[in-house]
Amino acid sequence: MPMFRIQNYLNGQLVAPASGQYLPNIEPATGQVYGEIPDSGPVDVAAAVAAAEAALPAWRARPAEERGRLLEKIADLIDANLERLAQAESRDNGKPLALARVMDIPRAASNFRFFGTAAPHFATEAHVQEGLALNYTVRHPVGVVGCISPWNLPLYLFTWKIAPALAVGCCVVAKPSEITPATAFLLSALCIEAGLPAGVLNIIHGTGPGCGQALVEHPGIKAISFTGGTATGRHLAATAAPLFKKLSLELGGKNPNLVFADCDLAAAVRTSIRSSFANQGQICLCGSRLFVERPIYEQFKTEFLRQLADQTVGDPLDAATKQGALASEAHLHKVLAYIKLAHDEGGTLLAGGHRATVPGRCADGYFLEPTVFEGLPYDCRTNQEEIFGPVVTLTPFDTEAEVLHMANSTEYGLSATIWTQNLTRAHRLSQALHSGVVWVNTWLHRDLRTPFGGMKNSGVGREGGLEALRFFTEAQNVCISLTGG
Ligand code: NDP
Repeated sequence: MPMFRIQNYLNGQLVAPASGQYLPNIEPATGQVYGEIPDSGPVDVAAAVAAAEAALPAWRARPAEERGRLLEKIADLIDANLERLAQAESRDNGKPLALARVMDIPRAASNFRFFGTAAPHFATEAHVQEGLALNYTVRHPVGVVGCISPWNLPLYLFTWKIAPALAVGCCVVAKPSEITPATAFLLSALCIEAGLPAGVLNIIHGTGPGCGQALVEHPGIKAISFTGGTATGRHLAATAAPLFKKLSLELGGKNPNLVFADCDLAAAVRTSIRSSFANQGQICLCGSRLFVERPIYEQFKTEFLRQLADQTVGDPLDAATKQGALASEAHLHKVLAYIKLAHDEGGTLLAGGHRATVPGRCADGYFLEPTVFEGLPYDCRTNQEEIFGPVVTLTPFDTEAEVLHMANSTEYGLSATIWTQNLTRAHRLSQALHSGVVWVNTWLHRDLRTPFGGMKNSGVGREGGLEALRFFTEAQNVCISLTGG
């Protein structure tokens, strides 16, 4: 089979990197190289920024409705190519094809449709000083912006950044993760087919240090929207802050799942299985610390482990597969190292704990058994550091104060889930949790209008709805005297 060669999307064309060099693209389910990725660098980034700068005046001058119509056209093309995109995402990332079909690709279309239709509704404020002055706010697109996304939800998170930037009239230079570049490449072709003007969106492939760093450093990039690990976010902020770039950082998480004795136990267990292991636990919103109130601890544990047995690890293309491969060999080894750490810290292994073997074409794939530990202190490293894989811990608690203390004890503050039928407690605890997103009796329920982002080391700024449109714009106040001087 010929190698699947990815190209950069630069000034409306699909082109090779300036260096002519490519990196291997590995299929996680087989461990085999199946394609090539441009190894782009500062030269490609500079060309992309120049193309975006040239496209900017015409793009920002277009009526929002026209920009929105183009974004909706891209959404329609994503829908029309759903199967092809889902297959590419599954192959590139290792996730079950069935999941890519119902989650990743439909959500990518929704991102374009949501922000395409939001653009004409984006209004600004007026502040009237009676008899003295009228102030009105103008929101200008920031200019050329950089969007950098991770490998766990490749097209989903890539489009979540690009769509609002384009909607408000910014031009974009975007870099997907080198681990999962395929659907971003396929998106380039769809943008060309939709008639997106050359230079409005440029997609440059390559490594973080080689290509992402050049994007962050480029003086023509006025704002950066980044989703990725906390350590990378810290490095990125240190580079961009002295250059006074606007920054939106969506970073890591170590999310608590608080299960009270009065909850609907069946729903809590069913959804906790999903929130622990969906996408092999590689969703920043996965709840990896399960705190269960002591009276139902044993019952919850028994039922959780029983349902865990149905989390079939297998070929992502197999319809019966619930758990595919981890995204890369390096990531698999990182997660295995955390399993060793959990043993070293005295944890009791309740399930999983080993690399999984999937026979046939997937014999060399990066599979891991869904893993559960108990008996670990809340403040040990296993319970404090982000693992970002199918590894969770179970911990009993006795009081609300105790579980709140444990839940809030990490450096992260992305999301939390509460399971209770007590309405007062749900409200009280939600507001006491240091998390940007709190779910009560549900998980991963998303409304694209709501603010999305983390507290503490989980990020800076919010995405979603108006927050995203505001981020990619610069507010200007115009003050008009009503007295004539
Ligand atoms: P990384 O931080 O390793 O990478 C994220 C992106 O940044 C990739 O495109 C990467 O490129 C790029 N990058 C790496 N180094 C640099 C650099 N010096 N300058 C510019 N760009 C750089 O994260 P992962 O891809 O490993 O993703 C997993 C992390 O993302 C987890 O911590 C997870 O919690 C977080 N995440 C957060 C979400 C949120 O909404 N808060 C949502 C989803 C994930 P390359 O891959 O090519 O090296």
